[in-house]
Amino acid sequence: MPELPEVETIVRQLDAELSGKRLGQVRLSRKDIVHGDPRPLSRLLPDRRIEGVHRRAKRVIIDLRPRAQLVFHLGMSGRLTLCALDASVEKHTHLRIAIRNADRELRFRDPRRFGGVWCLTGGPKHKGRKLGEVGPEPLPLTLRQFKAVVARPRQLKALLLDQRVIAGLGNIYCDEALHAAGVHPLTRADSLDEAQARRLLRAIKATLRKAIRSGGSTFADYRRADGRAGSYQKHHRAYHRDGQPCRTCGTTIQRINVAGRSTFICPRCQQEVSKPPS
Ligand SMILES: [Zn+2]
Repeated sequence: MPELPEVETIVRQLDAELSGKRLGQVRLSRKDIVHGDPRPLSRLLPDRRIEGVHRRAKRVIIDLRPRAQLVFHLGMSGRLTLCALDASVEKHTHLRIAIRNADRELRFRDPRRFGGVWCLTGGPKHKGRKLGEVGPEPLPLTLRQFKAVVARPRQLKALLLDQRVIAGLGNIYCDEALHAAGVHPLTRADSLDEAQARRLLRAIKATLRKAIRSGGSTFADYRRADGRAGSYQKHHRAYHRDGQPCRTCGTTIQRINVAGRSTFICPRCQQEVSKPPS
């Protein structure tokens, strides 16, 4: 599933390539992936100018003028790529948006359809799924803000995965950051002391920044906007490394289950210090 670094990678590429351009013809093959304004995208989008592309949480937001926003949620398997007009169209490509005076088009592909597109115009709304509320972005968080975020009696990893609490982290970067900070994922969040909270926030930011520099992590579906894979998976220290030696201490990385998700830890670097709430 694309997380903050993967979405940030897509957004930076799209912003550089698309800002100032105008949208053209829209081809939609699955109406049920579109939410927000109920009018057809083929009427709403053509000729609108792209003001810029940015990210909030794990969402790609395309700002348009006349004023509108096109919000993509990539869900589990979504891909948002700029493709040559004559490139073969992959199965499960639900939406294609031409770019005026360009030889490429924007394609949204999502085999598992946990993602979707929201067209927000300020006009009629409430068709299909709503965009949920999301918590603060991790990169600008101060230690004080982070301590307020984690001051809850919940398992730390479950809390960090909760998009309403903190935005953009998923299974990969939670495991990587917790390993880098030497904190066990089952730690009760409100039991972190000052030093642990500082280490963890620092690890979250450093992990996300390094992953953005590598274009994100590709395991299965994720691709950058130019269709290439990310490379941060080569630098993972915990995620999907069960059975392999910890790159810090040599102990074998274990796979455990936390909050219903496969979780990868080094039992030596990440010792459990307090029991989670039952
Ligand atoms: Zn270790």
